[in-house]
Amino acid sequence: MYCPVCLNDTLFMHTKGTIFIKINRQTMSTSHFLYNLSKEEEEDILEHLSIKLDEFLSWYSKFQNKEKISSVEIISANFACDKRCRLPSEARFSIIGSLVSKRTFVKLLLTLSKKHGLSVDVNSLDI
Ligand SMILES: [Zn+2]
Repeated sequence: MYCPVCLNDTLFMHTKGTIFIKINRQTMSTSHFLYNLSKEEEEDILEHLSIKLDEFLSWYSKFQNKEKISSVEIISANFACDKRCRLPSEARFSIIGSLVSKRTFVKLLLTLSKKHGLSVDVNSLDI
């Protein structure tokens, strides 16, 4: 992944950290989970993600004026650059496309959204 400071493909994820879920710019206090890459593989992370996404969508489905899901952020701050760049403190990076494939994630999102009666704006979905 690309470092926003030196623009080299030298960004890597820490072995342990936290992954946050943000949908349509909303967050809930419990929409995050810990990961540990020394013990977990893609399927373990996907399982945690699935549980948290399910909780999130259940909560979101109760909103009065909910919108179609058009923006999904599955992000972490636990990244560092090989070249030891100082990343901005607010820097968050998506784990979709690295820890979990985009295809797998979209499939999960569609299944869980349907379960909670929510629709996803697939054509302009920003992940
Ligand atoms: Zn860098």
